[in-house]
Amino acid sequence: MIPVRSFANRQVAVFGLARSGLASVRALKAGDAKIFAWDEKEDLRAAAAAEGAAISAWRDWPWDTIAALVLSPGVPFTHPKPHDVVLKANEAGVEVIGDIELFAREIRPDPAASGRAPVVAVTGTNGKSTTTVLIGHILSACGFDAQAGGNIGKSALNLAPPGPKTVYVLEVSSYQIDLSPGFRPDVAILSNITPDHIDRHGSLENYAAVKTSLLKRTVKSGLNIVGVDDQHGAAIFTRLTTNGGAPCVPVSVGKVLGRGIFVLDGVLYDAQSERAAKVMDLKTAEHLPGAHNWQNAALAYAATKPYIRDARAIAAAIADFPGLAHRIENVGNVGKVRFVNDSKATNADAAERALVCFPDIFWIAGGRPKEGGIAPLAPQFSRIRKAYLIGEAAEEFAATLDGKVAYEISGTLENAVASAAVDAAQSPVPAPVVLLSPACASFDQFRDFEQRGDSFRDLVAKLAVAPVREAS
Ligand code: ADP
Repeated sequence: MIPVRSFANRQVAVFGLARSGLASVRALKAGDAKIFAWDEKEDLRAAAAAEGAAISAWRDWPWDTIAALVLSPGVPFTHPKPHDVVLKANEAGVEVIGDIELFAREIRPDPAASGRAPVVAVTGTNGKSTTTVLIGHILSACGFDAQAGGNIGKSALNLAPPGPKTVYVLEVSSYQIDLSPGFRPDVAILSNITPDHIDRHGSLENYAAVKTSLLKRTVKSGLNIVGVDDQHGAAIFTRLTTNGGAPCVPVSVGKVLGRGIFVLDGVLYDAQSERAAKVMDLKTAEHLPGAHNWQNAALAYAATKPYIRDARAIAAAIADFPGLAHRIENVGNVGKVRFVNDSKATNADAAERALVCFPDIFWIAGGRPKEGGIAPLAPQFSRIRKAYLIGEAAEEFAATLDGKVAYEISGTLENAVASAAVDAAQSPVPAPVVLLSPACASFDQFRDFEQRGDSFRDLVAKLAVAPVREAS
């Protein structure tokens, strides 16, 4: 844990006590702040009280003497409209910040100072977690004390305090950017920008502007890295190269760049100096399948190159990256059948990234459907040998597949795994894949996508003990 000393002997209010809020309470307490805290959930209030916070409703806080309000990124700060607690803070002249701001004030109070632990920040619509964890993996493999977290894994303030070889790698959501105006990373990555969370940002333009504001704050001696394959990323790259800030490296999958990092046919090239040099064939990185992961790998390469001069060492670390749970995760083979957990795919767009990776799929899909369902996946239907439909979406998905793809309504994940395992084992295809990539939220049958993926893994483990028979 990183004690927050910047509020020693002052009063701080913390609103929202889930992961990052509770970490803030703990870190502020360790730095001798006096804390007032509130959350609508009783168990979270109890956890904060156990950490030494005074619990009272926010209207009862002593607003005249409070130095700052630490807001959970889950609480509306601007859109669709500010929460009442934010309005109250504004009225009382109390600054509103998030946990990343607290982190920044401890770790980087003066970005120009030497000997401070560098901070790499990762933002964008998709690929943040994979890129963050991959950067941490590469740095660790090359002898750094990589402290990776933020929006994934440990909250920023729960990471270890800096040592001589520490590099922080933080996944930062757009909500956290809004709440951390003083956070100035050494390296900032923008993976891509597609419509998402627009409800919380008003418009795609505003959402893009929030993401850009982080990269504008990167220290001048640092580096910005931008995925330029979508229209917003390309425009932001152009803007950043002309604003006099940190140098900016473009990253593309599919386009040859005169200067930058790019991937062509799965091969990663570094064209940051005069000539493009081949770094590695990303197809050898077993746990980074698909073009979307090639983008993540290229971003991670660009981010770690300033710290690790030897491109071969980075390539070796990328090649043996173990992957992330629930994202096209291999959970085992039974006979010739491979089982892949992509429970994180909660919409059609994400499911498509998994479907394109395999030619012969026994597809488990369904849950609580999103608008548009699976109709946009029609170009990938030819890869699906059969679909096993679960949860609330089953009937709707069946209607979309009808006449195009064989399917059954399995209802539960358990039934789906049992049927898919038998069908895949008995099918004539040489390398069948049973893929859980639901294209749906999990909340109708599970607590969250993690629990859904864990259940899938458990069911597969049981199959491995009592394997289904292949057709002879
Ligand atoms: P995030 O943390 O931004 O949600 P993850 O790394 O957890 O991203 O990946 C979530 C899902 O997004 C993956 O299952 C995959 O379907 C998709 N994805 C991952 N990386 C990318 C990328 N670079 N571009 C587009 N989609 C991606």
